[in-house]
Amino acid sequence: MTQPLRVRIAPSPTGSIHLGLARTALFNWAQARGRGGTFVLRIEDTDRSRSTAESETAILEGLRWLGIDWDEGPDVGGPYAPYRQSERIERHLEVARQLVERGDAYRCFCDADRLRELRAAQEARKETPRYDGHCRTLDPAEAARRAQAGEPHTLRFRVPAGETTFDDLVRGKVTFANAEVDDWVMLRQDGSPTYNFVVVCDDAQMRISHVLRGEEHLVNTPKQLLLYQALELPSPRFAHLPLLLGPNRKKLSKRDGSVSLEDYRAQGYPRDAVVNFLCLQGWALDGETEIFSREEFTRAFDVRDVSKGGSVFDFDKLAWLAGEYLRAESDAELAEHCVPFVVAAGLADEEELARRREWFERVVAQERERIRLYSELPARIAFYFAPDDSVVYDPKAEKGARKREGAVQTLEAYREWLAGQDLTEPEALGERTRAWLAERGLKLPALFQPLRCALTGLPGGPDLFQVMALLGPEAVDARLAAGIERLGE
Ligand code: GLU
Repeated sequence: MTQPLRVRIAPSPTGSIHLGLARTALFNWAQARGRGGTFVLRIEDTDRSRSTAESETAILEGLRWLGIDWDEGPDVGGPYAPYRQSERIERHLEVARQLVERGDAYRCFCDADRLRELRAAQEARKETPRYDGHCRTLDPAEAARRAQAGEPHTLRFRVPAGETTFDDLVRGKVTFANAEVDDWVMLRQDGSPTYNFVVVCDDAQMRISHVLRGEEHLVNTPKQLLLYQALELPSPRFAHLPLLLGPNRKKLSKRDGSVSLEDYRAQGYPRDAVVNFLCLQGWALDGETEIFSREEFTRAFDVRDVSKGGSVFDFDKLAWLAGEYLRAESDAELAEHCVPFVVAAGLADEEELARRREWFERVVAQERERIRLYSELPARIAFYFAPDDSVVYDPKAEKGARKREGAVQTLEAYREWLAGQDLTEPEALGERTRAWLAERGLKLPALFQPLRCALTGLPGGPDLFQVMALLGPEAVDARLAAGIERLGE
């Protein structure tokens, strides 16, 4: 009988979501969703001093933003609850007891000083630092007595001789000499368990069938496999996803650009562009198609197709994808996605934007070709929300307006003429305006530069007749009056 497909991600709540974790989450989720498997979210908060509740909340929130859902987890529960590692400590300690009984783990009384000296001596001899097995041969009964008497100790895993081989779904056959694997610490002096120990306990107890995780964990895999063997438990299949690399082909770091998912969200990257981009890090739909939906992704994804070479992170491509996704949105979708940014910029509150929804969509529609990120919108539309008598004039716009001979007189005459015009039909108004200019022997810029400055304060931007339709006759008149005064000074 084949084992049911169960995959998981196990983030440590010690910060925000790194792009690597976001990709790992997407790949696990797709592996489960494309094959009727189960996707588990487990919080790995073994490092109590660095784990925080805020970080856990932020991680869940970030994953939800990506559009990922999980079948079992700390918030939704499930048959293998609890899903927070710290709440499983009794289970971990029980496994540790079993391992001591079987002789696969032993108590180590070496103190920090001895380990430090050992390490220094090995480093001086240019050897890889490792535990020398000093307590390996202690009589277990004697060791138990010393522990009982309160002597501080750790618990180490007894690595057997031989080698460990496994078939990685991405990298193929991988072999490690067990001699390279230290007798590693399972329980620290304070009794707290370490990652390599608990991850095996939890993956086994939660019946995880496939572990898809970043390549940085490859070194941990032999330790974990040896533990499965000692416990006589079947081990999951492993797949190590290629590292995300910076443009210099070194591990992607903050120096290359932001590596936190939250930053991309805050900067107004369309969510689906980020998802699409992350999917391309080590995987391809068909080697040609770069833009695909999450449905196409989950349908086609198989971790066996992931490449093992590191994936160079192309920030320009992400920006390009952002623009493509943004422009594919309908005006209504785009407006919806821009609301939080407009609110955060202090231009309007949500109620106002909801009340003027149809108007807001038209405003957004005017700018859609000029922005690549939602966050670029507020600066471009701030003028609509400005008080009519104090629109901020960009120095370049103001200079251009003042440079036009007779700018103030032209604006005065136009304002007078405009009072009797219908502003709701931008094209028709544009035509009548051109005729008006021709009658007076004026060139277009003579009017348009001062007019744009008075209405928007910007040197460039959307069609002025569209702007007037959106501002409405009262605001247009008030802005022209203010412009005549301000540009006349
Ligand atoms: N807590 C580990 C991490 O965030 C999980 C590693 C694993 O998937 O085994 O890197």
